[in-house]
Amino acid sequence: TMSDAELSGFVRDVPDYPNDGIMFKDITGLLVDPKALSEAVERLAALVPDDVDLVSGMEARGFIVGAALAFRLGVGFVPVRKAGKLPPPTRSLTYGLEYGEATVEIREGTVPVGARVMLVDDVLATGGTAAAGAELLEQLGAEVVGLAFLLELEGLGGRERLAGRSVSTVLLAG
Ligand code: IMP
Repeated sequence: TMSDAELSGFVRDVPDYPNDGIMFKDITGLLVDPKALSEAVERLAALVPDDVDLVSGMEARGFIVGAALAFRLGVGFVPVRKAGKLPPPTRSLTYGLEYGEATVEIREGTVPVGARVMLVDDVLATGGTAAAGAELLEQLGAEVVGLAFLLELEGLGGRERLAGRSVSTVLLAG
C-alpha cells in the first residue's frame, strides 16, 4: 500500500492547460506506474458499496479507471459517452457547461431497470459531468448507489452540485 502523499505524487500539476488560469491535474503518470495504478484501483474498490451490479464511467478517463474497477469487482461496465459515438438506440442528456453545453449518451438496453450502479470518473471538478451521467443512468431506471473519483478538486462546487448523492474520492487536491 501507499500513503496519500505517495499516490498524489503520481499526479502532475500542469498550469494554464487547457486554458490560461486553469491548473490541470494530469493522471497519466499514475496510470503508467503499476503500483500506483493498482493502489488507485484498490482504493476505489474500497469505496464501492456491497452488491453493485455495474460500474459506469464517464468518457474518457472514467473508462480507464471504471473498466479496471469493474474487472476488480467482477461486474460489467457501462460507458457514458460523448454525443455521436454510440450506435442507436441511445438515450441522451444535454447539460450546461461554463460556456455552452454538452451531451452524454448511454446505449439503451445496457442498464437493466433497478440495476445498482456505481459511477466513476478520474476527476471531480464542478460536478456537472458526473451529475449528467448520474441523471442519465437514473432516466434509464438505474439506481446510482454512489459516485467515486480518483481526485477531487476542492473549491469548485462539485460536492454541492452532487448534493444528496453518495460521493467519495481517493485523493483531495486543494
Ligand atoms: P466537471 O464536470 O467540472 O466536474 O469536470 C470533470 C470532468 O472534466 C471529468 O470528466 C474530468 O475528466 C475532466 N476534468 C476537469 N478538470 C480536470 C483536470 O484537472 N484533470 C483531468 N480532468 C479534468
